[in-house]
Amino acid sequence: MIAGRHNSDSVELRAEDGNRLWTEPGIYHVAPGVYRIPLPLPNDALRAVNVYALTDGAELVLVDGGWALDEARERLAAALRGIGAQLGDISQFLVTHVHRDHYTQAVALRREFGGKIALGRDEETSLRLAADPANVPMGAQLGLLRRAGAEPVLAALHAMFGGRPRATEAEIWEDPDEWLSPGRRSVLPGRDLDVVPTPGHTAGHVIFDDGVAGLMFTGDHVLPHITPSIGFQPGVTELPLRDFLDSLRLVRGMPDRRMLPAHGKVSDSVHQRVDELLDHHEERLARVADTIVAGAATAYESAGRLGWTRRQRKLEELDAFNQMLAVTETAAHLDLLVYQGKLAARDEAGIRLYTVG
Ligand SMILES: [Zn+2]
Repeated sequence: MIAGRHNSDSVELRAEDGNRLWTEPGIYHVAPGVYRIPLPLPNDALRAVNVYALTDGAELVLVDGGWALDEARERLAAALRGIGAQLGDISQFLVTHVHRDHYTQAVALRREFGGKIALGRDEETSLRLAADPANVPMGAQLGLLRRAGAEPVLAALHAMFGGRPRATEAEIWEDPDEWLSPGRRSVLPGRDLDVVPTPGHTAGHVIFDDGVAGLMFTGDHVLPHITPSIGFQPGVTELPLRDFLDSLRLVRGMPDRRMLPAHGKVSDSVHQRVDELLDHHEERLARVADTIVAGAATAYESAGRLGWTRRQRKLEELDAFNQMLAVTETAAHLDLLVYQGKLAARDEAGIRLYTVG
């Protein structure tokens, strides 16, 4: 069904060769029957999201769906025409996690064409909250910021987003057709994928492992250029950083694969990047502990003493959204240090205060 069509709007199919910017629109041949398609994001530091098309020449399955934007829809349609396919050919979306840049376009395309969506079971809490029109956007994060003593960040966020729920926003968060459980599933004739829960980035994040082809679709769990945000989701979890590090070690214990991430280039080794991420967080935990030794008491104060982004920028140089991510990530590090017995914590007037020993 997806062979032989041709259309002047189609983009040329290219081999994945690593010589281009990974964000450059198009469709890239990664492995037999596997194609990478970068799709745009609005005003986002991540710049693009990769979806992967899997096909046996007859059926078409997508790993992740992209952000529901007109431009993303057009780019996806043009890319698929490059392999003689169209949007209506997508029979299934396997989505790594519930963030809008991965999930929402799958919902939009399902409404139009009827493909089935599968999402990790442990995303259910966050999806239900996101779908609730009465739920304040980022309400969980606002609570975490209060506990972190980050009043200035709360004020900046309020100025940026306001505090009112947006009903139209909630409408896109429909349930998947299937909640994914761990284990092997037949995705296409001749292609099985292992669904492996990797909580941390979100509570229900999963990766898809193709042992026969030697490929791992790592979603946002293992990313080549950046460290993924930790626990940014409507449903708060206790120790997201512990979960994330455990999930990295879990993947490190699996056979090494080519890495097919949701943001960034395809690369040869998942293990190599996992080792870098584990080292990064080890060092980060030590630095965060140092800020408490040096006199910081709250997660907000601690974050203010750390450098952010590769350029080691100061907290107040970040925009409100990224300040929020920085403070909640610092809190995740502090809470893990408490869990490990390296720091102590107590709550006073709703604010968590950290001390040495
Ligand atoms: Zn993402």
